[in-house]
Amino acid sequence: MLGSEYVKYVSLLGASGSIGRQTLDVIEQHPTDLQLVAMSIGENLTFGREIIARFSPKLVSVKSKEDCDKLKLEFTNEIKFVYGMEGLIEVATFEQADVLLNAVVGSVGLLPTLQAIKAHKTIAIANKETLVTAGHLIIEAAKQYNVDLLPVDSEHSAIFQCLQGERENNIERIILTASGGSFRDKNRDELRNVTVEDALNHPNWNMGAKITIDSATMMNKGLEVIEAHWLFQLPYDKINVLLHKESIIHSMVEFHDSSVIAQLGTPDMKVPIQYALTYPDRFELIGSTRLNLAKVGQLHFKDVDLDRYRAVRFAYTAGKIGGTMPTVLNAANEEAVNAFLNHKISFLAIEELIENALDQHSPIMNPSLEIISQVDVETRAYISQQVKELIKKV
Ligand code: MG
Repeated sequence: MLGSEYVKYVSLLGASGSIGRQTLDVIEQHPTDLQLVAMSIGENLTFGREIIARFSPKLVSVKSKEDCDKLKLEFTNEIKFVYGMEGLIEVATFEQADVLLNAVVGSVGLLPTLQAIKAHKTIAIANKETLVTAGHLIIEAAKQYNVDLLPVDSEHSAIFQCLQGERENNIERIILTASGGSFRDKNRDELRNVTVEDALNHPNWNMGAKITIDSATMMNKGLEVIEAHWLFQLPYDKINVLLHKESIIHSMVEFHDSSVIAQLGTPDMKVPIQYALTYPDRFELIGSTRLNLAKVGQLHFKDVDLDRYRAVRFAYTAGKIGGTMPTVLNAANEEAVNAFLNHKISFLAIEELIENALDQHSPIMNPSLEIISQVDVETRAYISQQVKELIKKV
């Protein structure tokens, strides 16, 4: 035992993704403190089988019924297999679990998160799209059911760490740092012909495909601004973004007395993942590189140019308008990034499509879950239509 008095049981959504895999590594490092009891693995059965052998979870969810039936035949009936959205919800609300780590990508994580809150699970949230599309519903439910929402996103974890022992009403502003992504040294002209492969080559962080593209457009930072608005209950004019190419300072909080508190470390997603799982304890993180500032030498900072990084501007605009606008921003982005990853549109067309989607939408204020999912579906249809038209033009 390293610190806690009893084992924390973890359910994990999105086990086969980048955050999911790193979460499994963290759990494996602390077998007497953390135990995986339920997980979703999507479509990756090869990886799923390996994880089942490594962790012996009691419940496993996959994407399709066919895969579910396949696994049922392969394993003993001590493991329950489920599938689809119902399967995700079953994992999220698994009775034995104390904490749900939600690491799925996209707004598909929304319903399982809401159900987990209602089942009184602590939520470690890496799934930023859920907060972007329905932050008001998540925060309202977390308050109603008295559930902790612990950030896993490195910037939000940094701010959360800076706020330990502080009062939120003393915050002057928060400063989210941004690496600038794989194209930070390119101007807009140079972005015209960049490829998927160029975009997937992130200088500092090792992440999944969607978030790496989001980093290149800096929509990731835009989504994080909205995520911060909900997590820390701050107005948008108190949320700033600062370019910091070394990714050593993970974010900062400035207080009324002009003091600034920052959280630093070598870029390693396992740090915020583990902090969310062991909070308020801090366990040793085996294999992490300790920060050596003398070796780093210099840190650089720059304001964000909102004409260069238009996605950040879109996010502030959508966030400030509120209602269904962030849902449109997020759904349009998910679809446009997908089209880019599938080589259907150019890199700059991602921004163009998002801008069009926001322009054509009349926002609905304080939307219900039904309205959010309706707007989400409509936006995706709109973008796929726009993608078809772009392809025709070429
Ligand atoms: Mg982040």
